[in-house]
Amino acid sequence: MIGSLVEMLRPFGEVREHEPMSRHTTLGVGGPARVYFRPHDRASLVQAVRALDASLPCLPLGRGSNLLVLDEGFDGVVIDLAPLNHVVCKGNLVMAEAGARMSRVASACVQAGLSGLEFLATVPGDIGGGVAMNAGAFGQQISDCLREVCCLLRDGSEIWLSADKLSMGYRHCRLPDGGIVLEAQFELQPDSSEAVRDRIRSMRARRSETQPLDQPNCGSVFTNPEGRHAAQLIEAAGLKGKTFGKARISEKHANFIVTEPGATASDVLALIRLARRSVREQFGIDLIPEVRIVGGQA
Ligand SMILES: Cc1cc2nc3c(=O)[nH]c(=O)nc-3n(C[C@H](O)[C@H](O)[C@H](O)COP(=O)(O)OP(=O)(O)OC[C@H]3O[C@@H](n4cnc5c(N)ncnc54)[C@H](O)[C@@H]3O)c2cc1C
Repeated sequence: MIGSLVEMLRPFGEVREHEPMSRHTTLGVGGPARVYFRPHDRASLVQAVRALDASLPCLPLGRGSNLLVLDEGFDGVVIDLAPLNHVVCKGNLVMAEAGARMSRVASACVQAGLSGLEFLATVPGDIGGGVAMNAGAFGQQISDCLREVCCLLRDGSEIWLSADKLSMGYRHCRLPDGGIVLEAQFELQPDSSEAVRDRIRSMRARRSETQPLDQPNCGSVFTNPEGRHAAQLIEAAGLKGKTFGKARISEKHANFIVTEPGATASDVLALIRLARRSVREQFGIDLIPEVRIVGGQA
């Protein structure tokens, strides 16, 4: 069964069986994907999705910077969008394919003198993942400038959706069921390249002061509850520096979990559960994971 799936996908790109997802997430943990598929290009991806059984679970993958794949692995097809990475600026518009690194889009905005998405320079994901998460920082978020998204549906058809059809909110975007973002179009404000570059510089400096960027992590583990900071709640619960196996709640930023070589997804999950339980018991607040937990019985 798995052999025939691999043979079916092979003409359309690189295919691997039982691929450890620890290789594809910034946390550096995660069990195997039944099949990992990296299409040659956009046309191959469309053909492959048309050929796939629509009931087979698929997981679109960007940089894996907001992903915790459980140790049991993902029983389906992980689709790596990295080859779809064109970025074009035209007037005030920026068109970026799903696999383009957000930092590359920020660089294109500097060159074109466009403002509104400076924060992208400080987030280590891809545009597709950024849209799916409605990524944001420093008072900016993807939805501020997003005009339209091209989505590939499970029947292989492509549709363009305007941003106001995606119910975008704080770290939230409602894509069509099973939809894969292929491309996003943004409208920005003209500004001088120097001003855009300066803002990016100060955002970057602020990041490295406050976040443990020298250790594997997935950014903020929890969203901030209304009017509160998840990091402050976790710190107040006395959990800074708490370790489980080879994972640790960062001393530098309590809403970050960092890992060491040999860490497992179960180590990270144990800390997520501990933080939720402690904050609920001590403050009556239910922390909601921002990190997407997939695989196993997630
Ligand atoms: C050091 C660090 C700092 C961070 N700082 C921030 C921050 O300031 N703000 C912030 O918002 N986030 C931050 N993050 C989290 C993360 O970078 C963002 O959520 C980012 O948008 C995830 O992009 P990705 O490509 O890595 O997505 P992935 O982690 O690969 O995927 C995340 C989710 O999006 C889905 N997805 C990915 N690509 C597509 C696609 N093409 N179509 C449909 N669904 C897709 C995946 O299936 C998954 O459910 C940080 C992470 C790290 C490691």
